[in-house]
Amino acid sequence: MAPVDGSGLIAYRLELIGRDGLLQNREIAAPNHFATDRAGQRIYAPSGWLQVHSDKKPELNCSKVFCADLEHAFDLVMTALAAERWPAGEPFFNRLELRVEGSFYDTPLPLAHECMSTVEAMHEDLHFSALELFQEIRGLSYTDRTLRPGQLVPTIVSNDGPMRVSITAERDPDIDADKSVSASPLIDLADAGHWLEPGQIKAHLQDIGGEPFDVRSRRGRPVWSTHIDRPGPNMVITSGQHANETSGPVGALRAAKHLTESGRNGFTVSPLVNPDSYALFRELSGQYPHHMNHAARFTATGCDLLYVERGFENEAHHIAKEKTGARLHLNLHGYPAHEWTRPFSGYISRGAELWSIPREFMLIRRFAPGWKVQGESILDAIIDELKGFDPIVDFNNEQRERSRLYSGSFPFNHRGGIPYIIEEVDDDLFPITIITEAPDETVYDDAFRLFHTVQMKTVLAAADASATMLS
Ligand SMILES: [Zn+2]
Repeated sequence: MAPVDGSGLIAYRLELIGRDGLLQNREIAAPNHFATDRAGQRIYAPSGWLQVHSDKKPELNCSKVFCADLEHAFDLVMTALAAERWPAGEPFFNRLELRVEGSFYDTPLPLAHECMSTVEAMHEDLHFSALELFQEIRGLSYTDRTLRPGQLVPTIVSNDGPMRVSITAERDPDIDADKSVSASPLIDLADAGHWLEPGQIKAHLQDIGGEPFDVRSRRGRPVWSTHIDRPGPNMVITSGQHANETSGPVGALRAAKHLTESGRNGFTVSPLVNPDSYALFRELSGQYPHHMNHAARFTATGCDLLYVERGFENEAHHIAKEKTGARLHLNLHGYPAHEWTRPFSGYISRGAELWSIPREFMLIRRFAPGWKVQGESILDAIIDELKGFDPIVDFNNEQRERSRLYSGSFPFNHRGGIPYIIEEVDDDLFPITIITEAPDETVYDDAFRLFHTVQMKTVLAAADASATMLS
């Protein structure tokens, strides 16, 4: 790429060597410009570009930035949100649809799960920029996670018409259907190549047995849970905290079934702790099944489940702790399977830079003061198990090389081909938490099966380790 001074049109310079050995040079324009985004941050962002070369009318000649349709639509939505008088109390709305219609493209690339998608880019940037705008309105920092604006749902519609935007507050469309969901027939979970319907989750949880304890989400959907009570240390298994991370619920149910059948440790399992956003995820995936759909990440109040007040979704965690006295929490998560961009806000996702490029299957070990040694032993036992599981070691090796090519190395700890992060925290509900991070947003078939299998193996290894180390 040419040196950047912010004023001219830059280009990728390619040297192509053909099969005949001949070298060809090509330039591909890459219009970008410096700007100040809504957060007051200096950004270098993709833009439209107007270039005119005319010998007959040289007065028209120019090469300059211009505001293209996409950028204009984004600005219109954000300007309208900023101008609105929002209520003093939270949430500001039940569900706020940010609808943008127009000419978008969505082009898969022949590399892993990558794609070029202005649909997805618009969805991601609108969702997070709107959230940041509400944080700003409330005088909160972008890292503050306590804001509860309501559910922010960008709806991107690709058609051949002119660009249109509209903003509508509306009620959740399918809540009544979900409140009374009935159990579906059991399936072979080991072979599941697709995220589960709620009825399948309910059926498999019933199949595990135990003592059920259900709580209700903010919108009144059930958060199904069960307790298999056994002597010795019981542990807590949860998944679906971020509803667009879909390999966790399958892995949790598979692990729970194995634990039950093998007579090992007692446990509670809550495979779908954020059902409101899972409903939104299913709605969004119906249109864009391979997108990250991060609008379905937080709860219906628009904040992370960990910051929801007691009495709603995260009541499942509190009841599980009371029932088990557990010192170990297995919390199964995922992250994007392809590059996560926000082109109108500096390109890389602000505050989530680490997760913007898909990397390896990873583990995060959190421990409270005084629980370092036990936490370390459990993490070691999990890694000892996973390093013998060739498919995930091979996947990780390939991902490590690929991500290093595009974004350099990150300072993870590594052992046996499994990267891990260690965090000491003093406000977790459980003294030791193991969080999994599978790049599963949103993959299917073999990739999906690999991730729910490694999620299951992580839980089973942790269960075996906790039986001896937490007794
Ligand atoms: Zn997550």
